[in-house]
Amino acid sequence: MADAPLPHPLGASADDAPLYAPRKQIYPQAVKGRYRTIKWVVLAITLGIYYFLPFIRWERGPNAPDQAILVDLANSRFYFFFIEIWPQEVYYITGLLVLAALTLFLMNAVAGRIWCGYLCPQTVWTDLFYAVERFIEGDRRERMRRDKERLTLPVLGRKVLKHGIWLMIAWWTGGAWVLYFADAPTLVSELATFRASFVAYLWIGILTFTTYTLAGFMREQVCTYMCPWPRIQAALTDEYALNVTYRYDRGEPRGSVKKNDVLKLQGLPAGDCIDCNQCVAVCPTGVDIRKGLQLDCIQCGLCMDACDTVMTKIGRPQGLIAYDTDMNVQARIEGRPEVRRIVRPRTLFYAGLMAVVGLVMIGSLAMRQSLYLSVMHDRNPLYVRLSDGSIRNGFTIRIANKNLDERRYSLSLDGLPEARIDVVGGDLDQQGRPIVTVGPDQTRETRVLVTDTASRAEDSMPLRFVLTDLATGDTASTSDHFKAP
Ligand code: SF4
Ligand code: SF4
Repeated sequence: MADAPLPHPLGASADDAPLYAPRKQIYPQAVKGRYRTIKWVVLAITLGIYYFLPFIRWERGPNAPDQAILVDLANSRFYFFFIEIWPQEVYYITGLLVLAALTLFLMNAVAGRIWCGYLCPQTVWTDLFYAVERFIEGDRRERMRRDKERLTLPVLGRKVLKHGIWLMIAWWTGGAWVLYFADAPTLVSELATFRASFVAYLWIGILTFTTYTLAGFMREQVCTYMCPWPRIQAALTDEYALNVTYRYDRGEPRGSVKKNDVLKLQGLPAGDCIDCNQCVAVCPTGVDIRKGLQLDCIQCGLCMDACDTVMTKIGRPQGLIAYDTDMNVQARIEGRPEVRRIVRPRTLFYAGLMAVVGLVMIGSLAMRQSLYLSVMHDRNPLYVRLSDGSIRNGFTIRIANKNLDERRYSLSLDGLPEARIDVVGGDLDQQGRPIVTVGPDQTRETRVLVTDTASRAEDSMPLRFVLTDLATGDTASTSDHFKAP
């Protein structure tokens, strides 16, 4: 059994975090290092995917759109490269959402809030907005100084430029979003010439506003107060999950370089932390990680870069703040061996579930039918007695042709050998079976009449409608009942 998580000896007290505190403006300082580079790369890749994916083409044939990813609301279709999802196949979307949730759980079990720190859209866009802010208004100290200054023309000019660029990015973000719902090149030209629909402009406006507000103004408050994930994540994590950790066993007692060097020479306790506050200055949420793991910490790793830079400058080993666990810190203090266990029941369980869901989805995609049939019995009247004594039931059938060419289907009955089937408005093939033609990638609803001449004792008899594709011989069937007096 694993040890229970240990309370952090330097942990933030209740006094440090009043329930209703006014927001303190945060001016995160620029930082360079391994994790900052990873974050820039992730930012470039994720934004690149988001902005340019709608322009990628995928050839599907003459009767289907050639956009690789398209949510075609008008025709109720979702296209994802070679996959086309119909409304009745919404379980694929459910499967994708389950996979996404399990991936998040697995990431959390391995390395805490790694999603929040590197991949979450709020983090990515806020990072981009901070980059613009630093480029125009300078780094932390300059921005702090300028915000205290009188509003002069150059200060105002810089602010107008910053907000202008923010709004442009926000507008592009909203613009890219609507491109997933229509043919992207066509919509771009319609938007530019003001011929696009009002709904497109409305959505761009809504997303421009939300991006500008969330990434430009609310920033860390979204992570701290609005997002439910930190609370859920805290309930899902365990003591083995790697988190950005201040190694207080090595850092404390903190003190200046000189003072602690002297103490060390005298054999007295002295840590490596020089209390320079660089880890706090670079933090986008204003957290002092030396107080232990906190809800506000998005695990972005920038404090690790800041501290590594400081340690390099003063000639001490890097990694005073690193991906580690409080359990290991305590183990080192007590002289016990460290425990690093990425492969454990929790991670195996999530990975196993992901594999099962993934395989089920791949299997159902591979065995997916291009033909779908559903039937609905008339509710009123349930049956009609004709003048010759036979009984007739009416049904409405719906056929979905998922092929990209027109198909002809024959419809037959199973279960009532003496019954006749007629399709209202349908043709007959050479064997006298009713034929229904359905256009490419379309559904067709049609009325069907089943007439039975046999006299029966039962008032409800099972029957089966069988639909056969005349080109390929593929079949689809569905069951219902024939009602009699
Ligand atoms: S950056 Fe490192 S040395 Fe400086 S205060 Fe933070 S933990 Fe201590
Ligand atoms: S404490 Fe460190 S890891 Fe956490 S949000 Fe601040 S900079 Fe990022």
